[in-house]
Amino acid sequence: MPKKNLFGYTLPELTAEFTALGETKFRSKQLFSWIYKKHVYDFDAMTDISKAFREKLKAEYSLALPTIFTKQVATDGTIKALLVLEDGSKVESVLMRYNFGNAICVSSEVGCNMGCAFCASGLLRRDRKLSAAEMMGELLCMNKILESEGASVTHIDVMGTGEPFDNYEEVIRFVKTANDDNGLGIGARKITVSTCGLVDGIRAYGKEGIQINLAVSLHASNDHIRNQIMPISKAYPMDELFAAIKDYQENSGRRVTLEYIMLSGLNDTIECANELADLIHDNNISALVNLIPYNEVKEKPFKRSSKEAVSAFYDRLKKRAIEVTVRKEFGTDIDAACGQLRAKVVAGE
Ligand code: SAH
Repeated sequence: MPKKNLFGYTLPELTAEFTALGETKFRSKQLFSWIYKKHVYDFDAMTDISKAFREKLKAEYSLALPTIFTKQVATDGTIKALLVLEDGSKVESVLMRYNFGNAICVSSEVGCNMGCAFCASGLLRRDRKLSAAEMMGELLCMNKILESEGASVTHIDVMGTGEPFDNYEEVIRFVKTANDDNGLGIGARKITVSTCGLVDGIRAYGKEGIQINLAVSLHASNDHIRNQIMPISKAYPMDELFAAIKDYQENSGRRVTLEYIMLSGLNDTIECANELADLIHDNNISALVNLIPYNEVKEKPFKRSSKEAVSAFYDRLKKRAIEVTVRKEFGTDIDAACGQLRAKVVAGE
């Protein structure tokens, strides 16, 4: 029997498991406190847990974390880490420095099957989904890197390689423990999950009853353009996607972020800006549009939009009373595009 990784449990799950083993219901809280508050990953050091139970823990459970294969640090402080998991798979996580804190971009799968035409992650197909323990491992590894500067991860974006709603249960488990006051205690509003538009996931997410943010990668103002760059659009056309977002919003009461990569000559015209504004208004959605400067990927034909095109698009959305921001760029002197570092290393193996 492989050992069960304790970083993959929510507190209620661990309480149920430990009480079934005959322990008191406080045992799980004690363990959470050791790992998430005191950063102790050695069972022998957990002195308020009986020796007999520590032996059981050692025999049946693990606190294994990924190891760091390679790390790039950009001049702006962005850290890109390529991590190795227990089975040898490699995943990327990135740390971005904002004035409000340190945000980690967590990968949710090894590779990705969504096949977005512009994205480097899809250069390598999905091998497997990540467990909640492995996603927590990404975060704890980043915390280890930040320890030397007395800092830690304060914000989480599940926006790295993979499609989080293709791995719904494990992603939710991970964000719940990150959010739990007895876990990492990261505020729900500081956690965002980004999907390419899996409508069942969007609907379920609205019913989780936690105030975690949702971002949807829209990247187009109509099905015709979206079909050219996002295969998922054929399964879930725009009207179904917006119906699910509306549903999510009715259940959660939360504003949604619509991600929009600006691709030169494809989706960056004023007509597209107007069409996007119509979509948001007609569907009566409360949304923030996040315009993303495209990180060019050498294997892909797409070009980033000019500064002028981005600013004209932005102005038009503003004029149409749409909330809009332009995403700050990070780590432009390292392999910044999603999946770029991993694709490079794995291709060279
Ligand atoms: N599968 C999820 C999360 C991972 S992708 C999703 O689609 O949302 C995270 C975000 O980065 C998405 O908005 C994705 O479209 C965008 N992205 C992918 N490749 C990019 C690139 N080369 N430049 C800029 N943004 C990119």
